[in-house]
Amino acid sequence: MPTLSTQLLVIGGGSTGLGVAWDACLRGIKVVLVEQGDLGQGTSGRYHGLLHSGGRYVISDPTSARDCAVENQVLRHIAPHAIEDTGGLFVATPADPVDFPDRWFAACQELGVSAEEITATEALRLEPALNPRISRAFRVQDGSLDSFDLLHALTAAIKRTGGQVWLKHRVEKLIINVNTIVAAEVRALDTGELITIGADFFINATGPWAGQTASLAEIQLPITLDKGSMVAMATRPVHTVINRCRLPSDGDVIVPVGTVAVLGTTDVEVQQPTDITIEPWEVDFLLAQGEILVPQLAHQRPMRAWAGVRPLYRPNKVDLGNTRELPRSHIILDHADRDGLHGLISVFSGKLTTFRLMAEQVTDLVCKHMGIAAVCLTGETPLTPTSRSFYKLPDRLAKLEATTSHDFPQVICECELVTRSAIEEALRATSTHDLDDVRRGLRLGMGPCQAGFCAYRAAGIAHEVAPPGGSLTTFLEERWRGMVPLGWGHTLRQMELMRRVYLELLQTHSLPEPTE
Ligand SMILES: Cc1cc2nc3c(=O)[nH]c(=O)nc-3n(C[C@H](O)[C@H](O)[C@H](O)COP(=O)(O)OP(=O)(O)OC[C@H]3O[C@@H](n4cnc5c(N)ncnc54)[C@H](O)[C@@H]3O)c2cc1C
Repeated sequence: MPTLSTQLLVIGGGSTGLGVAWDACLRGIKVVLVEQGDLGQGTSGRYHGLLHSGGRYVISDPTSARDCAVENQVLRHIAPHAIEDTGGLFVATPADPVDFPDRWFAACQELGVSAEEITATEALRLEPALNPRISRAFRVQDGSLDSFDLLHALTAAIKRTGGQVWLKHRVEKLIINVNTIVAAEVRALDTGELITIGADFFINATGPWAGQTASLAEIQLPITLDKGSMVAMATRPVHTVINRCRLPSDGDVIVPVGTVAVLGTTDVEVQQPTDITIEPWEVDFLLAQGEILVPQLAHQRPMRAWAGVRPLYRPNKVDLGNTRELPRSHIILDHADRDGLHGLISVFSGKLTTFRLMAEQVTDLVCKHMGIAAVCLTGETPLTPTSRSFYKLPDRLAKLEATTSHDFPQVICECELVTRSAIEEALRATSTHDLDDVRRGLRLGMGPCQAGFCAYRAAGIAHEVAPPGGSLTTFLEERWRGMVPLGWGHTLRQMELMRRVYLELLQTHSLPEPTE
């Protein structure tokens, strides 16, 4: 069995694991990160897209509120390319408690969360689609944060500073010598090869899989898994993040992300990190709640639904009934203190907005154990954007318009303006030629037609670049999965068109029925 050794092995390539790996690399530690899927295949690629101002948590979770307020500013400084500065509004609708806004505003001031009251008329001038019956409105520093862009920039920064990121590699076993973890057995999922990686320290940053990973070291983590579903509307009726001014609850935020507006979320306890099926009631509920904030949503097309799973720490097995009541702040467990097992730290929960802070706290602990004096540099080290820009559709358009007519690029995905050369470059840049990985990298097929027209063209390119290439059926099934819960009205028509193009014209394999 091939072996390799490093100082730090990070398990999990979401924002938390990549954040830890980047921080450790900047402190001069030799790092390998292994991720079982692609970048963003876990919760970090299945989230709501909100760069929190902190406002949401000022009453329910003041620590989180403060952390978000600080990290919001840090991220604007180090990763401006991944952020759209939409700004945010907290608005009181007739359905919200009348005494809440004053309490909420006082808490913002006490915690240092920037908030400014404006009149309802001013709010409606800023966002004409808002419910005209709102009574109070406050401006906050919410934004939208493109996690794909951030994760790619983190990966590039890790590699630049000497670290390694191994995608499609799964940790299957942790090897313990007396009371210390000494190595991990890692499976290369493409080839099936098993590699042993020895390390001085191990980080379990596997998000909703944290319990399963800890169990490889025979440690039980009392984690409850909580699924949240979201619906993307095909257009952007608001350009500011809109929050209900009330205690955090289901369906009370609308986030404009790229060309869409995302309604979310629900909260449902699930058993597995992969339990991401969306129930019809969740879609109905999110649309109904969204209409309380923006009534015209009733006349717009929902484009796609997806869900992410968060791990919530439940140290005492008390039945709180509603998972909303469980704290959402991040948890760092040093298993030497907790379980007498040296060389392993688990970090999970928290927010994507606070990933850098979580990483800093974990890496401080690693340095303490390893006797390393280096300090954290991530707060003042800009993350340079990668050559690919993800949500910036106007940038792509400007680039296309700037080209002369004779070398005008072939546009393969018209909705997201993805060109043939970008797809070819993405396919050549990785060892996998999975179209779904290309999608996460370029937003291929993520626009209003949901790959109705670009998937077969992209599959053709994948076949040319790396035959047989592409996995067209898997790619289509993934797109289809997000449309099935919305299979009525305009979305059903769109699905029917897609079905006919692929099943009848191109004779691909079957797709699930919309009713499934
Ligand atoms: C519905 C929902 C909405 C949210 N919205 C927001 C929001 O708007 N703003 C915000 O700031 N935060 C939000 N969050 C929180 C945020 O998404 C998470 O805090 C963050 O993405 C967690 O990242 P992570 O790296 O810890 O986990 P993940 O992103 O899940 O990463 C864990 C990774 O570990 C990998 N892995 C698992 N097991 C193994 C193994 N054995 N070997 C190798 N790799 C393995 C997985 O494939 C996965 O990629 C939301 C969360 C949910 C659930």
